[in-house]
Amino acid sequence: MEDRYGHFISYLRVSVTDRCNERCRYCMPEEVQEWASKDETLSWDEMLRVLRVGASLGIRKVRVTGGEPLTRPGVLDFFDALGEMRARGELNDLGISTNATLLPNKPRDGKGATVAARLVAAGVRTANISLDTLDRETYHRVTGRDFLVRVLAGIDAAREAGFESIKLNCVLMRAINEDHLGELIDYAREKDLLLRFIELMPVTTTEMLDESNFFSAGLAKKRLEEKLGPLTPRPDYKTNGPASYYEIPGSGQLIGFIGAMTNFHFCESCNKLRLTSDGKLRPCLGSHHEFDLREVLRNGATDVEIAAFFRDVVARKPKEHEFRENYVPARRMVAIGG
Ligand code: SAM
Ligand code: SF4
Repeated sequence: MEDRYGHFISYLRVSVTDRCNERCRYCMPEEVQEWASKDETLSWDEMLRVLRVGASLGIRKVRVTGGEPLTRPGVLDFFDALGEMRARGELNDLGISTNATLLPNKPRDGKGATVAARLVAAGVRTANISLDTLDRETYHRVTGRDFLVRVLAGIDAAREAGFESIKLNCVLMRAINEDHLGELIDYAREKDLLLRFIELMPVTTTEMLDESNFFSAGLAKKRLEEKLGPLTPRPDYKTNGPASYYEIPGSGQLIGFIGAMTNFHFCESCNKLRLTSDGKLRPCLGSHHEFDLREVLRNGATDVEIAAFFRDVVARKPKEHEFRENYVPARRMVAIGG
């Protein structure tokens, strides 16, 4: 599927729940905490059907996200079904975004030593893990939960499980974690993980999105260069996303920056659509347009009609996000799927 601006869409990010066991201040506003009901949420079968149609239209990569995807009962069986699609060649790449808190647990169905191992056995290739700080008190303050110890155990479980790629995602926040970046870099190097710094995006209605918390990727890079020496751009190094990678002098370690707010080329190579847990197909995270696929599904649409719906949404994909144009946050990130 190709949109009006030459973006080829091959990546679907699927949010399976708007619920989470953490309360990150940039993602989930304290003032509004209402969850979609079970009926409003797509069933596993509905999600799989959408994914099968998506795959027939050229979706090759799926990343399962949320909320915290591992909190939804039945998610491991869902991953098994996605892994089977991958084994049949319908998908090339299967990943998860997670806060890692549940990765070290024993799976409820007893299959596998840890949830992380169970995911790898199902065919999940990549894990993106959120980690904004290694300081326990700051972690608690940002996420609303004192879970750092669990998260670090989850990261170790992920490493042991043998994912092909594990990335750490750190949201940059002025005066909150701006002095913690060096420690995160050391940790990522020791654990051999790829660390990316992400600019705070205005996707939720909370006091956290105040200008005073915004710490740009450019400024973070400058600060790091004052300590580490000049970072060498590595435009040749590409993952399937908008990060720009740099090499740290001496160690050769790579770090990434994801600057949705300050990188004006951010949207050029976008290949993504999002499916929210309540069945909205969303062509862009940074635009309020979303289209109700749930209603179409529940009104008895055929696969051909679902495919037409996909094509129509792709045709409406904007040239770029609207974050810089007085974008007014409406939906919580936790409800869209990060
Ligand atoms: N619960 C999982 C996690 O935390 O990784 C998956 C869902 S979370 C919404 C996905 C990613 O979105 C996380 O890396 C999180 O840091 C990021 N995120 C959430 N709100 C954000 C915001 N306002 N700006 C930038 N990134 C945000
Ligand atoms: Fe939950 Fe992830 Fe949002 Fe934090 S960023 S509240 S862990 S969904």
